Amino acid sequence: MSLPPLVEPADELTIDEVRRYSRHLIIPEVGMAGQKRLKNSKVLVIGAGGLGSPALLYLAAAGVGTLGIVEFDTVDESNLQRQIIHGQSDVGKSKAQSAKESILEANPYTNVVLHEERLDNDNVFQIFEQYDLIVDGTDNFATRYLVNDAAVLLGKPYVWGSIFRFDGQISVFWAEHGPCYRCLYPEPPPPGMVPSCAEGGVLGVLCASVGAAQVTEAIKLLTGIGDPSLGRLNIYEALDLNWRTLKVRKDPNCAICGENPTVTELIDYESFCGALTEEAADAAVGSTISVKQLSEWIKLKDNGEKDFVLIDVREPNEYEINRIPGSVLIPKADFQTGVALEKLPQDKQLVFHCKSGVRSAEVLAIAKGAGFGDAVHVGGGVVAWVDQIDPSQPAY
Ligand SMILES: [Zn+2]
Repeated sequence: MSLPPLVEPADELTIDEVRRYSRHLIIPEVGMAGQKRLKNSKVLVIGAGGLGSPALLYLAAAGVGTLGIVEFDTVDESNLQRQIIHGQSDVGKSKAQSAKESILEANPYTNVVLHEERLDNDNVFQIFEQYDLIVDGTDNFATRYLVNDAAVLLGKPYVWGSIFRFDGQISVFWAEHGPCYRCLYPEPPPPGMVPSCAEGGVLGVLCASVGAAQVTEAIKLLTGIGDPSLGRLNIYEALDLNWRTLKVRKDPNCAICGENPTVTELIDYESFCGALTEEAADAAVGSTISVKQLSEWIKLKDNGEKDFVLIDVREPNEYEINRIPGSVLIPKADFQTGVALEKLPQDKQLVFHCKSGVRSAEVLAIAKGAGFGDAVHVGGGVVAWVDQIDPSQPAY
């Protein structure tokens, strides 16, 4: 289904702009009118990270007149493997500022607007209202549902993308003309089921494939060229170099865009997507120690004044990157299948940790259920350990 262009053409292009965009102008479908529409376009990109990096650079290079960036984070060394809008000298700097500098280097005619804040219920409408189109490159479910619901309530189209390891997904959501994200995913996955890129990893170059496809969809919508991917979920599998397309239908029972919507205003997205299962949250109450406490416990153990087993429930490849001294590796899955429970010493206190404290809280719930009443887990996991106790180890 083709759609009318989202944006009216700007009055004119300057001579410099004609020179710059000449390879667009000679494509008959784009031409002067299409390029003037891009010049008049206002696009908001959420996140200047993996997907936002290529998306922002190509949107700027293509001549999109105004680019908004929602980003509150700073550049970390572990970003540079994929977030190509930032460089070595940007480490520690605001991602929004760093992105702006790269954009202006790619195209000085771009008007860059920075929103250096976390997108939330209080600011989302006021930010979204300023733009014709939204490109969502966020990596967490709470923000994805917030973006969707705000876009539906404002009647805005958006281009969604997601990445994990070797696979990517992209689609266009616009409730006025087709399905929304909730039509495709009515509920977030159970907490702990879908690891984030920070936990599961991502092939850096995958961001370029998926981010570039998002920009292509954005340009199609802005200029009215081609057939935007509304009602289609595109799945990219890098290891097979394969794009698959699935049909997505508008769900008449969709909670927000269906016939009898139950979501008519923004909701509490953090609790909707709950970082911890109820069982894990319950188990962690009163049974969570800090990395500082753990460090004290390890000293006491070395002096023979305390006895416990420290169990790392991450995956073996994570254990190779960094570890807390004296920990033994038993991945979370072994607790879920029950294999691990047979190996545990019955006479020692168990201390679990993972990367950030989510998986270890889930394992804690399983262990307590199996009778290990005095088991505890380490809040903040190995991330907090490296940050506060042993900065000589690499973080990831
Ligand atoms: Zn819907």
